[in-house]
Formats: sequence, C-alpha cells, structure tokens
Amino acid sequence: MPKVDESPGQNISFWHTTTSQTPLTPLAGDIEVDVAIVGGGFTGLWTAYYLKSLDPGLGVAIVEANFPGYGASGRNGGWAVGEMAGMATRFADPETRESAIRLQRALFDTVDEIGRVAREEGIDCHYAKGGTINLATAPIHVEHLQAEVAHWASLGFGEEDFRWLEADEIAKRVRSPKARGALFSPHCAAIHPFRLVSGLVDVLLGQGVQIFSETPAIRFEKDKVSTPNGNIKASMIVQATEAYTDSLPGRRRQLLPFYSMMIATEPLSQEIWDEIGLAARETFGDPRRMVIYGQRTADDRIAFGARGGYQFGSRIRSEFSPEEKVFEETRQSLEELFPVLKGVGVTHRWGGALGIPRDWRPVVGIDRQAGKAWAGGYVGEGVAATNLAGRTLADLILEQDSPRVDLAWVGASFGTWEPEPLRWLGISIMNRLGDRLDGQELAGASPSRALSSVYDWIVKK
Ligand SMILES: Cc1cc2nc3c(=O)[nH]c(=O)nc-3n(C[C@H](O)[C@H](O)[C@H](O)COP(=O)(O)OP(=O)(O)OC[C@H]3O[C@@H](n4cnc5c(N)ncnc54)[C@H](O)[C@@H]3O)c2cc1C
Repeated sequence: MPKVDESPGQNISFWHTTTSQTPLTPLAGDIEVDVAIVGGGFTGLWTAYYLKSLDPGLGVAIVEANFPGYGASGRNGGWAVGEMAGMATRFADPETRESAIRLQRALFDTVDEIGRVAREEGIDCHYAKGGTINLATAPIHVEHLQAEVAHWASLGFGEEDFRWLEADEIAKRVRSPKARGALFSPHCAAIHPFRLVSGLVDVLLGQGVQIFSETPAIRFEKDKVSTPNGNIKASMIVQATEAYTDSLPGRRRQLLPFYSMMIATEPLSQEIWDEIGLAARETFGDPRRMVIYGQRTADDRIAFGARGGYQFGSRIRSEFSPEEKVFEETRQSLEELFPVLKGVGVTHRWGGALGIPRDWRPVVGIDRQAGKAWAGGYVGEGVAATNLAGRTLADLILEQDSPRVDLAWVGASFGTWEPEPLRWLGISIMNRLGDRLDGQELAGASPSRALSSVYDWIVKK
C-alpha cells in the first residue's frame, strides 16, 4: 500500500503538495497603499483581483502570515458550489426573502464566474462544472431531500437548479449501493483549490499587487496595519482572516475555528472508475449533519472530507498527524459509499480550520469612516462564496453602484461567541447530538424528535 505522502515539514494538503507557488518575501520596511488586505486566502486574493479589475491604478497590498493558501483556501474539498450557510433563515424571514433569493442566484452565477476568470487568466485549476449530487443514503434522507426540492421550488427555483434523481437516473452519474435517490444541482464545479490560489497570486503580481508572505498583521487600526518588520499605511484595510480571526486583538470570539479533515486516495484504475462513475467529476456527499464531501480529482483520485471538531479556547491547529483516528473513520465513510474502494491506498491526510460566525451566517461589510472592511464566516462553504465576497468588497470599497452591494449578506458585522467553557460545551453537545442522530438515521431508524430539536436550536441560535 502506498505510504502517506507528505511534503517536507508541512502537511498542508494534497493540493499543496501537488502545486508550486511563486516565492514571495516578507514585508521589510514601511509602505503606503490605497487598500491593505490582511489574509492571503481566497477572500483576500479575490478582493485584490476585483479591485485591480475595476481600478488598475489602485495601490493594493496583501499581508499573509504564512503563504497564500496556507489556510482553508489551500486545504478544502474543492467544491466551488453555489450554496451558502445560513440561507434557510434568510429565506424564512419575509423581510429578507427577496434579497436572499437574489443572493442565491448570484451564488449560482459565481460558479461560472470562477470558471470565466480561470479561463481568461489562464489559471489551470482543473475546473470541471459537473454539478453536485446529494445522495440519500438513509431512508429518511429521501424524505428530507425531496422536501428540499419542494422548498426550492416554492422559492422559484426549478428543475434546472435542483432536481430529484431516482435510483436509475443516479446510476448514470454515480454508482453506490447506498443510494436511494439523490438531489442533483448543476451549480457546482470541482476545482484544485491550491492551483487556483497560486494562479491568482501570479495574476495579482502581474497586476502590480504587492503580496507579502510570512508577514503576520500584529494589529490593524484606522489607516495602519502593523507587522513585525514594517507598517502599511492605507485608507482602507480589509480583514480576510476567517478561522484565524480569533488570534487578532479586538476581534476575539468573532469566528469559531472548526476543523474538517480530508483524505486523498491514490489514483484509481479505470476499472474502479467504471464501477463508480462520476465521469463529469460531479461532487458528491449525503445530507448527514456531520457532513461528508468528495470529488474526483483531475488525476483520478478521490479527495474526501468529513467532520473534524473544535479545540477548547478556539485553539488553532494547522498540523495533523496522519495517525489520527478521524482519518480512518473518514476512510470508512468513503468505503461505505463505494465498497469497491476497499484496499485502495490513501496517500494524503490533512485537516484545516473553517470559520463559523455566531449566527452561522456569512457576512460582507464596510465601515467607511473607520476605514475597514471585512468578509467571512462561510462555515464550510466558502470556495465560491469568497469570490462573490471579493467582488462585493471591491464594489463597496470603490463605491460602485452594482447589484451586489445590497445583497442579503451585506452590511452586518460578526456577532460574538460565548466565552469558554460555554463555547466548547455548546459545540461538544452539537457534535455528540449530530453523531447520534446521524447514526440513528443511517441505521434506518427515525431520529429522536427531542434531540433533533435541541440540535437545530444549537445550530440556528
Ligand atoms: C478541510 C476543509 C474543507 C473545505 N471544503 C470546502 C469545499 O469543498 N467547498 C467550500 O465551498 N468550502 C470549503 N471549505 C471552506 C473554504 O475553504 C473556506 O470558506 C474558504 O477557503 C475561506 O477563505 P478565506 O480566504 O476567507 O480564509 P482562509 O483561506 O483561511 O485564509 C485566511 C488567511 O489569513 C491568514 N492570516 C491569519 N491571520 C493573519 C494575520 N494576523 N496576518 C496576516 N495573515 C493572516 C492565514 O494564514 C490564512 O492564509 C473547507 C474548509 C476546510 C478547512
């Protein structure tokens, strides 16, 4: 069996080990720009990209504590999906429903926008828009997913957006003995996220954006970002630090770092792919609470992820031992979906932190007077949403009259999480309940109503 394959010193992700990045240097000395961006993930990179697209003469700098893509943007499942956390509550409120529907449509378009930029800028990020398949792997999932299709229909989204697939239709796309039906949406592309990060870095450098690696912002206040070896003067500062936000002075408890863990198999044989399908590189998962998600990579592996957890005190972890039990559990979940994978080698194991806001709803915001802007809190759905956030931040900063600046997620600030040990307690209960309810459902039983209500209350409150 192939051994675990890690890049020397840093086990960032399979994506990281298979991509090179143009070397960058730290900031040394003081500089002045129009817009300074803190964080070199997708949020920061897309914001810089759209700022320069709108105003090529604008001075833009990005400071990144490690290297671009070090955070979730270089470690994720590569689903550029037209979905966003917290939409259910936005749809439920009559006051925000209309603008939430516009936000949803804008997210769908964002999947194509990423493809457009990749194509036009020559970024080979293995973009394949094959859609996404949410498999009903338990009897109750059929009920839940069919209700979801009906809910989308009630909001005006038709078969071209969300479609129920019966078992025979699923088999044309993916073959799993667990599948009892599925919800299919075409609004998803599988990508190689680190190639997108590194491609964007090259494009930005070509546009004159200054990008500094190994340059942590120690603090940022009006007009100034302070780093260990130099300061940046800027009239607008963008916070794009997602799960790492908690370590910034004055911003503690805004976003809770939650972990998701991933594995990648060795490249699979044509015989195995003939059995599994996924010819269009559709992404796949099922509706369990402790999410699972997978994609067929361009080099014919499966990259597959599952729940991780939370560290007391919002401690940030960036290194994960390949021996951790969670990786074996993740592999088992994958094998349950596709028994043909038994015995196949797992070559990469890694994890990463995503950011959860207190109300589980991502936001984009600006305070012109204070000279600051922010975006984040995507929970686990930021690969596409960061592009929309970046475009929206650029519009807001440059005061563009665009259809994006009044979308439902614009304007709010991050709420504040409870202090410990309440935070840890709440998340631990959520995880335990989620596991228990998923277990009941996957075993074919009806989940306890009382426990389901408690779970929903924690997740929505
Ligand atoms: C394992 C995993 C799987 C996921 N799968 C998917 C998926 O398939 N689809 C999807 O839509 N979403 C997915 N997500 C979520 C998605 O990856 C994120 O929402 C998205 O990448 C967030 O981008 P970002 O730029 O806001 O944050 P990040 O990519 O985390 O970037 C923040 C950056 O800020 C830097 N930074 C932090 N503090 C400082 C400082 N003080 N000074 C300077 N720099 C700083 C960090 O080093 C980091 O590079 C996943 C996340 C994880 C962890």
